[in-house]
Amino acid sequence: MDRLLKCADLALYRAKLEGRGAFRFFEAEMDARMQARRRLELDIRQALGRREFSLHYQPQLNLENDRVTGCEALLRWHHPERGLVPPGEFIPLAEEIGLIVPIGEWVIRQACRDAATWPAAITVAVNVSPAQFKGDRLVEVIVSALASSGLPASRLEIEITEGVLLQENERTLRTLHRLRALGIRVSMDDFGTGYSSLSYLRSFPFDKIKIDRSFVADITQKPDGDAVIRAIAGLGRSLGMTTVAEGVETEDQMRRIRAEGCTDVQGYLVSRPIPA
Ligand code: C2E
Ligand code: MG
Ligand code: MG
Repeated sequence: MDRLLKCADLALYRAKLEGRGAFRFFEAEMDARMQARRRLELDIRQALGRREFSLHYQPQLNLENDRVTGCEALLRWHHPERGLVPPGEFIPLAEEIGLIVPIGEWVIRQACRDAATWPAAITVAVNVSPAQFKGDRLVEVIVSALASSGLPASRLEIEITEGVLLQENERTLRTLHRLRALGIRVSMDDFGTGYSSLSYLRSFPFDKIKIDRSFVADITQKPDGDAVIRAIAGLGRSLGMTTVAEGVETEDQMRRIRAEGCTDVQGYLVSRPIPA
């Protein structure tokens, strides 16, 4: 009986996941997926305590003076059996179960500690998830990370996606303005992939627009593939925002991006993400 109910429950879970008002028969694969997910969840819960996370950094190059202006911190998880787990595989689940909050706090603290040892002109950018904006702790955590590392606020940048602005707009905007008032820079990440990017650009004075790498890939692959990049570069210019092209892999892409007027690039051509 227990087994029957458990299987029925898995089928119900799937039916809800796929949009309610429907039914699903139980399939063995549902159980396997659920168990895999549960194991991953358990492993993520232990990862912080076991010090399995580390940060890699990817430089961002300014095109006007060909100098590195800063680095983006990218989370890496080395699991003893799974090996190196890419962020795309564990961050969504960590967000869902709320663990991105303590993990994100560790990222902020570690990134500030690392950056404090770098030359004064080099900034550090940290990705911040929507869930980290939900509580009231984000500003507190950042202020404390800056204070204990000695990193000036002007050298810290946070990267948010549209997902952050989709939720509880008033409160989120207040948090962003508080961070801004402290001297922290705020970037819009993966620009152009969401729903209403343009209205978000009006709702908050971002310092930087990071153009999603899919548009950079288009540049040499599609006819008029450079139209979007050119438009965003122009938009950034008129709004006084830095425009970074993400995912630049070839000299050809680099040349085109320079010609379209982006101010900065980030990508494998300059460097892959590497340890500090
Ligand atoms: P993102 O913030 O847009 O980071 C850029 C991603 O593009 C990184 O993937 C980077 O390795 C990859 N990339 C950079 N240059 C190139 C290139 O030339 N070609 C290609 N194909 N890829 C390039 P990564 O490290 O796998 O991270 C994926 C995403 O995971 C990040 O996208 C970010 O959204 C998220 N993430 C990473 N670290 C953190 C973190 O500490 N906290 C949160 N909340 N999210 C994170
Ligand atoms: Mg980013
Ligand atoms: Mg991005």
